Amino acid sequence: MTIHLDTERTTLDAARAALRGRLLADGVLIDLGSPGLYGRTGVFERVYGAVDAAAVRSQSDLDAEVLRFPPVEPLTAFERTDYIASFPDLAASISGFTGDDRTHRALLAARERGERWEGFLEPADLMLTPAVCHPVYGLVGDVVHAGGRFFDIVGDSFRRELSLDPMRLQAFHMHEFVHIGTPESAKAHRDGRIPVMRALLESFGLEIDVVPANDPFFGRVGQMLARNQVEQALKFEFVTPVYGPDHEATAISSANLHEDHFGTAFGIRSADGGVAHSACIAFGLERITIALFAAHGTDPDAWPTAVRSALAL
Ligand code: ATP
Ligand code: ZN
Ligand code: MG
Repeated sequence: MTIHLDTERTTLDAARAALRGRLLADGVLIDLGSPGLYGRTGVFERVYGAVDAAAVRSQSDLDAEVLRFPPVEPLTAFERTDYIASFPDLAASISGFTGDDRTHRALLAARERGERWEGFLEPADLMLTPAVCHPVYGLVGDVVHAGGRFFDIVGDSFRRELSLDPMRLQAFHMHEFVHIGTPESAKAHRDGRIPVMRALLESFGLEIDVVPANDPFFGRVGQMLARNQVEQALKFEFVTPVYGPDHEATAISSANLHEDHFGTAFGIRSADGGVAHSACIAFGLERITIALFAAHGTDPDAWPTAVRSALAL
């Protein structure tokens, strides 16, 4: 059994290394020297832009309010999401230099000795945003009007998950369509969007399965949260077998019902007076883009006509 699992791990790692090597060799991505951190070239941006535009077109009937945020959020806002309780291992903060001349000299001396010097920086009250919908819950006020509100949010996400899998980045983007309303309207948003998203991703020539998600909540309490997520079927993922049928498929998008999690944390009520419920759907833009390169090759001009026309490429 162990031997079998080890073999599986090795072949999966080999498949990941092969895809990563191909993306780098064919000039799609540029290695920046830290796992899961890449520069992007013109061919990547061409496909990435087409993926994002197609995602937006597929949700245009929502008539969602457009919001854009910086890649960092105030610590006070981050606090209220409770992310640090569930995923401390993925969280990351900004730090800055606040010292005097003497501390600066000590920093430079450490640097001169070839030592790491970031210890001389102090944590600032800013966190890197791990999920792009976070800032919206603090902005909608105490009550959302009848019918609820829809938001279109795309931006940077940062998660400290070091990996040589080109599908698992530290810095990436998700395009989210968020709804805040009643328990019924939030569930309807999550459920109603699933067939639309599936059809879109399948039109890209990707093999898609929709499966209940099992997020890696941290620690002992986390195991309970993870069980709850699966039992209550709160979150679904759109997975595609990037590394072939023998390995677990990778999530390239998700549809997530938060129930009253953010409504309670941010003190939001729906028009009927109850605690607001929310749901969001998220397109993982880099993952969809890389899944396309994995499925169809690194030259988009040679992709099947149907795929190019679905992407308006
Ligand atoms: P996974 O289970 O693979 O870690 P996730 O459940 O953490 O994914 P979500 O929090 O649902 O992901 O984020 C929405 C989407 O963002 C995912 O469906 C995926 O496409 C993308 N995404 C998540 N983590 C990463 C990452 N480390 N690198 C690139 N894209 C990511
Ligand atoms: Zn979200
Ligand atoms: Mg994750």
